[in-house]
Amino acid sequence: VILPSLSVVSCHHAKPATAVYDFEPDTVEVAKPKPPAKEITLAQAGVNASWMDRSADPCTDFYKFSCGGWMAANPIPADYSTWDVTRQMEEDNLSTLKDLLEKAKAAPATDEVSTKISAFYTACTDEAAIEKADAKPMAPMLAVVAKVKDSKSLTAALIELHSHRMWALFDIGAQQDFKDATQVITGVDQDGLGLPDRDYYVGDDKHLAEIREFYVAHVEKSLVLAGMKPAAAKQAATDVMRIETEIAKLSQTRVERRDPYKVYNRVERDGLAKAAPHIDWDAYWKGIGFPDVKAISVTSVEYVKGIDALTQSEKPAAWKNYLTWTVVRSMSPWLSKRFDEEQFALQQKLQGLKQQLPRWKRCVNATDDALGELLGQPYVAVKFSGDSKDLAEGVVTNVKGAMGTELASLAWMDDATRKVAQEKLGKMFDQIGYPSKWRVYDFKLSSSDYAANWLAAQGFEFRRQMNKVGKPVDRTEFQMTPPTVNAYYDSSLNEMVFPAGILQPPAFSKDFIDAVNYGATGSTVGHELTHGFDDEGAQFDPDGNLRNWWSESTAKEFKADGKCVSALYSTFEVTPGGIKENGDLTNGENIADIGGLKLAFAAYHKVRAKADAALVADGFSEDQMFFIAYAQTWCTNERPEREEEQVRTNEHSLARFRVLGPLQSIPAFADTFQCKAGSVMRPAKVCTVW
Ligand SMILES: [Zn+2]
Repeated sequence: VILPSLSVVSCHHAKPATAVYDFEPDTVEVAKPKPPAKEITLAQAGVNASWMDRSADPCTDFYKFSCGGWMAANPIPADYSTWDVTRQMEEDNLSTLKDLLEKAKAAPATDEVSTKISAFYTACTDEAAIEKADAKPMAPMLAVVAKVKDSKSLTAALIELHSHRMWALFDIGAQQDFKDATQVITGVDQDGLGLPDRDYYVGDDKHLAEIREFYVAHVEKSLVLAGMKPAAAKQAATDVMRIETEIAKLSQTRVERRDPYKVYNRVERDGLAKAAPHIDWDAYWKGIGFPDVKAISVTSVEYVKGIDALTQSEKPAAWKNYLTWTVVRSMSPWLSKRFDEEQFALQQKLQGLKQQLPRWKRCVNATDDALGELLGQPYVAVKFSGDSKDLAEGVVTNVKGAMGTELASLAWMDDATRKVAQEKLGKMFDQIGYPSKWRVYDFKLSSSDYAANWLAAQGFEFRRQMNKVGKPVDRTEFQMTPPTVNAYYDSSLNEMVFPAGILQPPAFSKDFIDAVNYGATGSTVGHELTHGFDDEGAQFDPDGNLRNWWSESTAKEFKADGKCVSALYSTFEVTPGGIKENGDLTNGENIADIGGLKLAFAAYHKVRAKADAALVADGFSEDQMFFIAYAQTWCTNERPEREEEQVRTNEHSLARFRVLGPLQSIPAFADTFQCKAGSVMRPAKVCTVW
């Protein structure tokens, strides 16, 4: 959506893989008279009245109608590039986590969770020690890089950097085999750029040219800080830009990478060695601690061939510069102020940020990154206890049920395809809140050496990933930490996961009415579920294998519907007359937004059908509150620089279009607000996928 340990906390969400949902179409019930509507307040319902701007016309701009008040009252803080309801939920979580960490820091208990999170957080907040260490933590890495003089020493440097997840030239990790989801294999992917995307190097508009110029100066300054002489740093910055530009040219675009067939190439160990003969792969696999790696998929063979040629066309001195830069840029956020401030200058340029986050927030985030499932344990005890999990489980079950009903009645789907779609829904797995078994973090931590902790955490994560290769798939893994305000669907696992962090007010509460919980959170559940059936997810079968299970005629209809959505979103202007949304890049997310909202609406209607009396709050019907609650999860203020970065690099549409796009595509919305034909929110043409 929106937008990824062992203790005694247990849960029982693991649904049997054969769970069967109600696939029968709703029977038409004979309308029986209902008692008069019950009056409640918007606050009692869970709707934020002050966030609305009721002077706006809901049929012209429903985003403003629902969020105008919020937008006026919530300017972007100087240390953020975006401010939105998700960030506010994250802020709430940050304060909770801060309390937990400060408590552990002040009086560390003897249990493993408390000892480890306290050491990590304490070292991060010890700014004096960090200043004193200055550039020293980089020294061991830079010493290996300094020895680069040929292929052998270049491989040695890649081993050292990659073992700490500092990605130069490419990255590696574990992945489920796209075509046999029971197997975990090694994946090799493009990586090694200091700017957010390949397009930043090769795009030809003025803004990007300006960023490139800034970047080269930034590399030069950072390298001087790391101890390089100014003339050498100037040369190095030129080398870095040239090498990264070559890597960018070889890299796939984000739109290409949405096609699973384009990023899956089982070449195995020999095939990789053949594509890149100048890298000593035997030494590489041995050096990273996994000498027996055999099953390998690369995202692009052309990419591997290209970087291999690059290792030959560039001189060792240039490689030294590129690798030095990779170390410096990877480690700067964890070093003394002068490094940290220089790396922040680039973030400012890219995202329009005005100032750094306060130290404590960055330390809470870093602890969550490094030790998320330790910190997550006290978090869920405080924020996700009692019946929260059961309540969320109910929403998930009902939204799945709505999809079952939908699948049973879809006119454009033939029966053979429908049968597999139903099987896929039946096998869809979900995890809610927190993992059933917590991750074990078996590495040493110091309460006085922050950079060492960070390196240890990176090393641990690298080994943890690679250790999955060749083992059975772990279905209990969470790819996000429990406090994360987000959710995900994984195509290979055919699974959706909702961390406790997103199941919080104002998105979800046991005190909210169904219309609000379903509008705000049911839509998120529907969104993740629909990912299993979006243009990308639909290419994976019920068992998570990349396999075409669509009949030709149904696939044709499905593709045409997806194109309709893409065309609609490509008309959305980010700035008047300026850049527009990329409907292809965001297609999967948009399909999921539209489908998710529709499923949530259907699920909530079914739940409420049994209710005695309808609820009315301040003149708003339950249906109206459903849509307002949905829109209010997206209330956002965003800096123009950040909007532009998002449009170029992110698969999600901007918040306002995540409101307007789906609501324009669901006629029930226009009916609910009685929008006239021809109004913005009742367009003549409506795109429907699910
Ligand atoms: Zn999504």
